[in-house]
Amino acid sequence: MRVPYHPAVSAPCAPSPASTPAPSGIDDASSITGIRADLLIPGRGEPVKQGAVVIRDARIAWAGAYRNLPPEYHHSVTFTHVPVVMPGMWDLHTHFGGLGRDVRFFDDPKALLPGAGVLAGAITVEDLRRTLEAGFTSIRELSGYAGYLAPGVEGGYIAGPNIYSSIAILSVTGGHGDIHDCLLDSVVQSGHTGGPFYLCDGVDECIKAVRVMVRRGAKCIKVCSSGGVLSLNDDPEDRQFSDEELKAIVDEAGRTGRRVAAHAIGKAGILAALRAGITSIEHGCYLDEEVAKIMKEKGAILIATRHIQESLLENHEGFPEKVKEKIEKIVPLTRANYDLAVKLGVRIALGTDMWNSDPAHPIAHGRNGMELRYAHKAGMKPLDIIEACTATSPEVLGKLAPLSGQLKEGYDADLIAVASNPLDDIEVLTKPENVTHVWRAGKLYKSPSTH
Ligand SMILES: [Zn+2]
Repeated sequence: MRVPYHPAVSAPCAPSPASTPAPSGIDDASSITGIRADLLIPGRGEPVKQGAVVIRDARIAWAGAYRNLPPEYHHSVTFTHVPVVMPGMWDLHTHFGGLGRDVRFFDDPKALLPGAGVLAGAITVEDLRRTLEAGFTSIRELSGYAGYLAPGVEGGYIAGPNIYSSIAILSVTGGHGDIHDCLLDSVVQSGHTGGPFYLCDGVDECIKAVRVMVRRGAKCIKVCSSGGVLSLNDDPEDRQFSDEELKAIVDEAGRTGRRVAAHAIGKAGILAALRAGITSIEHGCYLDEEVAKIMKEKGAILIATRHIQESLLENHEGFPEKVKEKIEKIVPLTRANYDLAVKLGVRIALGTDMWNSDPAHPIAHGRNGMELRYAHKAGMKPLDIIEACTATSPEVLGKLAPLSGQLKEGYDADLIAVASNPLDDIEVLTKPENVTHVWRAGKLYKSPSTH
């Protein structure tokens, strides 16, 4: 395992724009780092040529055009020069469960055995590092084991992105978050002892489920308001949870400032989620003009998870026939409806639905940048795509959102350097090797000298 290290190497840049008095008001005990870039992409707003960022400890102390650098930084900061600097990216839909190695996450009774979570967590450590090094400094996990590792990342024991997890997925019995070919009691017991699937039926159980997730450290809540593609015995067009249950979940989450994400594929499930006041629609495959209009009215955010869909369509050989049919029906539909959502101006953020721990797999953690390709194919401009996976992303967390996703004073010092301009070619960000530097909370986790 590679562990975090402090920035040690930096290339001094050209002399500062003016000779000014030595710094004043800079606390010697704080750690200050400077980055100069040919192009600064702020996350929201227009890019700045010849930009600079000053990081003090875990926060951005200053960002803007280098010619406007405040005098106190002229002589006190050594600048690293990079071609492009931008905020670290967010992947808003991930699952860390060790799938693809010794523990399967979905559809395998082994995932319900004692110790499965420990093994999945151990495998996840490497997945988190790969995610961070791909330029993703924050993830929202919508069920999985990474949520339990968040204190390890915050404490500096594990090199990984900031983790905002729902801990488990809330599902009705027999719904998308159930494991249909396992004994029901074992699925229930696994959910009650820390597993990533949590079944709840009726308003009272739904309220309790939200409280249990908050108790376990959830920063958001995930529900399934429709059936799924990979779950055996339900249909993506099915609705799951009643209006009363969904409303109870959203209200209870809101009491502690948490927002709710809904796995919502069929139109009825999407509309039910929106009626209940859910913040983000995950997948949203059956989105149409009526759905788009309501989403815009409510300010809901679409997270289309396109990369996984195209990958499943290309590699669906191992799945049961029923699942293959669902994949073949859903993917072309989502392709068209994502285009429609972009055209109609629905708010969009990016999430991949990554869950695989085998680095060779198309949906392996660390390939998160692939989602940007599909946003581009759907008609988004590169600058808007970058905003969708930086500045817009924290908004799905509501009151719990950190100051993140923008190169602005006071924001989290989570940023990346890129080898060439992604505004000319968004594909640059699909390849982790083009992300030359990664800083999270002001610490340098990746640089050319370490790779
Ligand atoms: Zn998912």
